[in-house]
Amino acid sequence: MLVTLLTTLHLTVFAQNKSSVLAITGARIYTTPYQEPIEKGIVIVENGIIKAVGPWGKIKIPKKAKILKADGLSLVAGFWNCHVHLMEEKWNNAAGQSKEELEKKMEEMFLRYGFTTIIDLATLHKENLLDLAQRVTKENLRSPEILYAGEPFVAENGSPLYIAPLRLREVKNKRDVELHINEQVKAGASLIKIWSASPAKKGIVSLSDSLIAHASLIAGKYGLAVAAHPTNIRGADLAISNGVKILVHTSPDDRLPFPDSLVEKMIKKQVVLMPTLQMIKWELERFNVPSKNDPLLQTGITQLSQFFKAGGTIVFGTDVGYMTVYDPADEYVFMQQAGMDYKAILASLTIAPAQVFGKQKETGTIEAGKKAQLLLLKEDPAKSISAFTNIAYTIQNGEIIFRKQ
Ligand SMILES: [Zn+2]
Repeated sequence: MLVTLLTTLHLTVFAQNKSSVLAITGARIYTTPYQEPIEKGIVIVENGIIKAVGPWGKIKIPKKAKILKADGLSLVAGFWNCHVHLMEEKWNNAAGQSKEELEKKMEEMFLRYGFTTIIDLATLHKENLLDLAQRVTKENLRSPEILYAGEPFVAENGSPLYIAPLRLREVKNKRDVELHINEQVKAGASLIKIWSASPAKKGIVSLSDSLIAHASLIAGKYGLAVAAHPTNIRGADLAISNGVKILVHTSPDDRLPFPDSLVEKMIKKQVVLMPTLQMIKWELERFNVPSKNDPLLQTGITQLSQFFKAGGTIVFGTDVGYMTVYDPADEYVFMQQAGMDYKAILASLTIAPAQVFGKQKETGTIEAGKKAQLLLLKEDPAKSISAFTNIAYTIQNGEIIFRKQ
């Protein structure tokens, strides 16, 4: 019954008519992760902005509204994947691909998993990434909103082994750091990405304290955070001690939990963590190492658990695009194993990244005045975290940009 009602709505109804009003009716609405949901709620969206949210009977549905019946579904804010890379071959020549091709690729990688905002955390082809981001905005493509870090940098001879023979930008002195950051800012970067320590040809190569501190200083002048790939505990400590605000992975290479003093430092300095645990599983398995109970993966889970229990801010990220698995289901499972309940996971997908990246006035919760970046889930996340990958509709600025067939 539900299916037939829903299929009467065509995907492009809202896309074509900017002034149309959308009423989503009957869903269980999680306005924020930590509040009790509104059962049988109504959300009114006008020109892409949420106008009203409330229970059935309390919210007036405008006569001209298109109705999206969502009985039995759960409505949450659109998800963020804060660690992606748009660098697989299929993104090449972004300027020359058809709109449809790009939209299909966005759908298979992001929209069907509910991601309405993504952060490209390092590119080797900045011009192409800019072409893509520009087309998404200018042509209003069915796509997540794209934020990016631009090109990352590492220490001299610090280009990571796993991208060889390619090399990243290697900085020698403060002037290099400054020029590099200025260049990323000019390209529209929302954050700056570095490897505080990287697994290079001759072992682990770290940036110096002074270069990391200088990066934090320069980025800070532009109001941007520095995000670091830490590799190991020393790399994490080095980053945090020198003003880095975001760790883009756990740092499991030593197979040791975070020292308590490091966790304390992270909390004190309000450092944010992106777990990307699924990527560890993928790395192990592609080298035919069984991931179950593997110490590397277990260390990642343990570190996330320590950080979570200490009250740290976690933002969702999977490293998809480097990792070739698009389905993020395993990431949710590992987050749960680390002790995060559905509310904490939902926060990492919505309100936490919105706050970390300064978008909390626009998105991250379901409130009047915010952009209608919304998801209808087929299951209730309170019952099972499988709900997070069971997406019925992805809505971007009031337009349905994905629906499950
Ligand atoms: Zn990455």
